Amino acid sequence: MNIIVTGCAGFIGSHLLERLLAQPDVRVTGWDLDDRRIIPLLDHPRLTFRQASYTEPAALAWLEQDVAQADWLVHLGAVCQPARYNTEPLLTIHANFLDSVPIVEMASRHGVPLLFTSTSEVYGRTLGSYAPAGQVLAPHQTLLDAATTPMLLGPIQHQRWTYACAKQLTERLIYAHHHDRGLPFAIVRPFNFFGPRMDYLPGLEGEGTPRVLPMFVSAVLRGEPMQLVDGGHARRTITSIHDAIDALMAIIERPQAFLNHFYNIGNPANEVSMRELAEQLRLAFARMTGEARFLDHPIEEVSGGAFYGPGYEDCDRRIMDITQEQARLAWFPQHSLQALLDEVVDYYWARFGDSSRRAATEDVRA
Ligand code: UDP
Repeated sequence: MNIIVTGCAGFIGSHLLERLLAQPDVRVTGWDLDDRRIIPLLDHPRLTFRQASYTEPAALAWLEQDVAQADWLVHLGAVCQPARYNTEPLLTIHANFLDSVPIVEMASRHGVPLLFTSTSEVYGRTLGSYAPAGQVLAPHQTLLDAATTPMLLGPIQHQRWTYACAKQLTERLIYAHHHDRGLPFAIVRPFNFFGPRMDYLPGLEGEGTPRVLPMFVSAVLRGEPMQLVDGGHARRTITSIHDAIDALMAIIERPQAFLNHFYNIGNPANEVSMRELAEQLRLAFARMTGEARFLDHPIEEVSGGAFYGPGYEDCDRRIMDITQEQARLAWFPQHSLQALLDEVVDYYWARFGDSSRRAATEDVRA
């Protein structure tokens, strides 16, 4: 099988590459600008790495030559950082919609199956979040179902929703190509995937504001308070990258069974509020390092406006129905939140534990 992967060295891409190349009959041509997460794979005989941007016309022509020979085009390339959706809306629209248009079109021209990683954020806020306070909610007001749930995004001035809207429009473009021109597709909506190599740890691996778990892990390692936006009431289902890759592999390995569907990929057993996530991370650090100081690591509250700037609005909850996905893919997420957090702490403690200990000792001396 010959597979093209855009964004192959991102968080999801690096894990997918490992699993694809572990299959004896798979060749991968991977596209990315950055190679840091895949350095151990670069010499693999069945990987061709193209360190290039697929937004340049010359590179697009090159990509099209790859695609014309391919059994699958897996399009992961995206900008996925909530702090940029309202502060860099043009970049968000380009990276998540306009840059995808030629890729969708080339898959359609060649009839090559397209696997697109969209986002659980396409659903926006739940119906239940608009119900009067105190109303008992029906399941359809909270449970996100890939086939039936409407998508509720806020007003244009709330630019948080540029990402959801751009991803949704890419989904609609793919579906329109399927409808009009027979493009075979699989659309995956990731629900808060985390694990080793996620985003980057601010202050340790880069600068900026990544997603919530790298923010929290970095804060703990650097001895800074974890910051809870708007009280940490928002709820998310936290999904292990390994469960996520299992689902992607199931789709890629048996396209004849799984094409032309939308998939919610997440683990409903791991639903937590962001406050609970911060508290559970403290426990995981104490458990994995044997250091009790982590049990009362500080947590502070901050408003969404102060943290993200104007135009931020939050998704209240992302709990989904995956019965259709489980039945179709014979896929069952295995990793509990505790197992996921233990793996994450273990991975980052091996890299940054020494500097965390030194900072803690200096704090005590001061
Ligand atoms: N959040 C937080 N502290 C942080 C970063 C994020 O409390 O340092 C909150 C954010 O407001 C949201 C949730 O955590 O309610 C998840 O945010 P994330 O950036 O991971 O992405 P999202 O799931 O909203 O796409």
